[in-house]
Amino acid sequence: MAKNCLCLTAKTIDRNLEILNKYRKFIDIAELRVDCLDSDERLYFRRFPELAGIPVILTIRRDVDGGHFTGGEGARVKLLARGLAFANADSRLNFAYVDIEDDLKVPSLEEAARTFGTHIIRSYHDLEGEPFDICAKIKSMQRTGDEIVKMAIAAKTTSDVHRIYKASKSCTVKNKIIVCMGHLGIYSRILAEKFGSIFTYSSALSENETIGAAGQLDVKELAELYRFKKISKKTKIFGITGYPLKATISPWFFNSIFNLEKTDAVYVPFPADSVGDLLNLAKDLDVQGLSVTVPYKEAVLPKLAKCSDSVQTVRACNTVFPIDDEWYGENTDITGFSDSLLFFIGRKNLKNQKITIVGAGGAARAVAAEVYRLGGKALILNRTAYKAKSLASIYKFKWGALDTQGIERISKFKDIIIQTTSIGMEGYEAANPLDLYNFTGKEAVMDLIYMPEETPFLKSAAKAGCKTLNGYDMVIRQACRQYVNFMGKEIPQNVLSRINILGENK
Ligand code: NAP
Repeated sequence: MAKNCLCLTAKTIDRNLEILNKYRKFIDIAELRVDCLDSDERLYFRRFPELAGIPVILTIRRDVDGGHFTGGEGARVKLLARGLAFANADSRLNFAYVDIEDDLKVPSLEEAARTFGTHIIRSYHDLEGEPFDICAKIKSMQRTGDEIVKMAIAAKTTSDVHRIYKASKSCTVKNKIIVCMGHLGIYSRILAEKFGSIFTYSSALSENETIGAAGQLDVKELAELYRFKKISKKTKIFGITGYPLKATISPWFFNSIFNLEKTDAVYVPFPADSVGDLLNLAKDLDVQGLSVTVPYKEAVLPKLAKCSDSVQTVRACNTVFPIDDEWYGENTDITGFSDSLLFFIGRKNLKNQKITIVGAGGAARAVAAEVYRLGGKALILNRTAYKAKSLASIYKFKWGALDTQGIERISKFKDIIIQTTSIGMEGYEAANPLDLYNFTGKEAVMDLIYMPEETPFLKSAAKAGCKTLNGYDMVIRQACRQYVNFMGKEIPQNVLSRINILGENK
């Protein structure tokens, strides 16, 4: 099993120890980043392994490799030698590992390390992410055969992650650490075992002074949410793809269920710059199911071999899973939305209801289809007016732009107002798409966004006295249906009620 290594980047030995002790139960090893220590603290770090009581990696990372050491190589070698000096016959009191960059060739340092049982991690950092023969490089770095080879490569695109994954899988070197740096490579850290990596590096991100490397996960989140130590080669992989994919409750929902059910499965975020490239990688990773979110619900359609009638009707897909080795698409937003709305307004249908739908993207298409099916009449308003027009024409709805004229038309469609754009969502503009509209206080108002809990749009509706609902109930309802698609069975009732209680407390 891959090991969880906590990266310690505080300025003092004491503070690093404090952080280590706080997160000790989640980790297997720690990395002391001596380059982050204050200069006077660098005199005393040799005693750290004894104080830590777990295997520790000694690392002094140069600024050119993304670290904080700005001195010359002579000074760095001296510091490394200080860490390896006064070696104890009891190897637990020495650094268990020393990180030596591939281009730092000081045989005496390596010899000193080996003599007292300190393993060498030979590392290579590529912050530019330019293509090169990764497998050949890994092989060339294992000079004596006993080193661990560490490759940290910036993943600027999803195809970069795929390239690194393929190189790692094809490489015969077993003792290796593979890191895809950056937000687009975040899942490679959770799926370290699948990426052929023996360690993953995490950070205590909630500690103020922690400087996590780009894409590094929080140590507690990795251990508790993703149950990192339980991920083996056999663990089934599920996940969610989108971009930037910063506000989603789905990993919490699915991983909580897997945990409660004791299912050997993990659900991870797959931020991607191209949904097609992500699906290619997902196939190689044997991903068993994907939720698809903004902005890929439409872009994913050409990548599907087959899809349900509802996906064809709304031309949006939020659920993908393999059937006979090909991607099949489903849309669970549709009924997730209508079940949630009908429950909210306490009705069985939308007959005689005049409704405004704000937005004309993937979610709006699901909303419009359901409003029509349930007998409602609607006005669709969108920033890009022609998209509102083309969606409205399918159902003979009215349409308009998000301008004064369009907003004036709401007066005839104000029983229910449904906000489906990404405006107000975490990571997007914190604005109100209907800031020109004055709520009367009688409208039932729903926003599909659930992070944040209350968008500026919902806040303004609530302030006017409207009954409001955010997208949390909808996302849970649609996720329950995704679970059926992924697992071929319903979520057991007792598990679902536990999740609901957890959700309310969140
Ligand atoms: P999408 O297909 O990318 O559509 C985005 C929509 O937002 C389009 O109408 C777009 O207008 C509009 N928009 C984006 N930025 C805008 C801006 N700055 N000003 C004005 N309009 C803007 O996304 P989607 O899949 O429909 O998702 C939309 C939202 O619904 C997201 O926040 C998502 O989280 C939420 N959602 C929630 C659930 C749930 O279960 N609760 C389910 C699905 C979706 P243009 O056409 O002019 O670009």
